[in-house]
Amino acid sequence: MDSKKPKIIIVGAGPGGLSAGMLLAHRGFAVEIFEKAAQPGGRNGSLQLGEYKFDIGPTFFMMDFVLRDIFRQSGRDLEKSLSLIKLSPMYRLFFADQQIDIHDDENKMAAELKRVFPGDEIGLKKFMAKEKLRFLKLFKILSRDNNNILRAASPDFLSALPAFSIGRSLYDALGDYFKHEYARLSFTFQAKYLGMSPWECPAAFSMVPYVEHFFGIYHIRGGLSETAVVMARAIEEDGGKIHYNSEVKELILEAKKVIGVELVTGEKILADRVIVNADFSYAMNNLLPAGTLKKYTPAK
Ligand SMILES: Cc1cc2nc3c(=O)[nH]c(=O)nc-3n(C[C@H](O)[C@H](O)[C@H](O)COP(=O)(O)OP(=O)(O)OC[C@H]3O[C@@H](n4cnc5c(N)ncnc54)[C@H](O)[C@@H]3O)c2cc1C
Repeated sequence: MDSKKPKIIIVGAGPGGLSAGMLLAHRGFAVEIFEKAAQPGGRNGSLQLGEYKFDIGPTFFMMDFVLRDIFRQSGRDLEKSLSLIKLSPMYRLFFADQQIDIHDDENKMAAELKRVFPGDEIGLKKFMAKEKLRFLKLFKILSRDNNNILRAASPDFLSALPAFSIGRSLYDALGDYFKHEYARLSFTFQAKYLGMSPWECPAAFSMVPYVEHFFGIYHIRGGLSETAVVMARAIEEDGGKIHYNSEVKELILEAKKVIGVELVTGEKILADRVIVNADFSYAMNNLLPAGTLKKYTPAK
């Protein structure tokens, strides 16, 4: 490890903290992760009961290209680290009196729509073509840091604005493609992944069903929580340390800068940078010393 590289503390070994840890450890930063649970994964962890292991969160793996990229940037091949099984059909939807298999293969999906909701197979072609354009515009700007207000005035941000379809719901937007109520629901229920209803979820999230239909979804042999196990191993192979059962009580501040963490045991660890992978509102309300917050006060 390059001793001149900054030391980085990461609070939490969920998918976010593990991704940051993999990328930074591979680049030679001295990474230390403090995780309050006894295992990695956060909401994508597992529960072991005797010889059985249960995933506690995600049921299927989508947008594989994001994790593939993180592995590639960490000098690894996702395919060699995890056994991915592409699902075909992706899932089967049951309505009161009908059922339909959902495929990422466009021809199979069109045939299934024709069989169950005749006429809506034509909408699928339109959906795939139009939503591809939306995805290409939005994904680019959603995958970068937009914290700086000037970013919102950049040409690519402005040109993507129409793709947000502001004022329209996901359910409205999908009505452009599908006439049968159930067909529309088959392409809008994904709003629940975001904890929303299709009637309230902004139309821009039609990216989610598009991503499913274009890229497909996977099961991971051994459960989705295996991802966390493999990512944690990669961090350790690259010299990073993960401390389990180590809850951070508070961030240590010097002036306005976070310079380390204090664990519930009272131990204080300093670092050049601290990344907080815990939920934002929880972190703001619990991990900052009283009286230090100006913008994100508990009342706000
Ligand atoms: C039932 C369920 C189903 C889901 N299904 C899917 C799905 O199918 N596909 C999908 O992509 N996503 C799914 N998700 C969402 C996915 O699990 C989360 O988006 C993801 O886990 C968030 O990752 P994260 O790293 O941001 O946070 P988390 O997973 O919450 O990780 C945060 C970590 O920080 C640790 N931590 C917090 N505070 C402290 C502290 N003070 N000190 C030390 N450690 C701390 C926590 O213990 C945790 O390990 C599902 C979630 C649930 C609950």
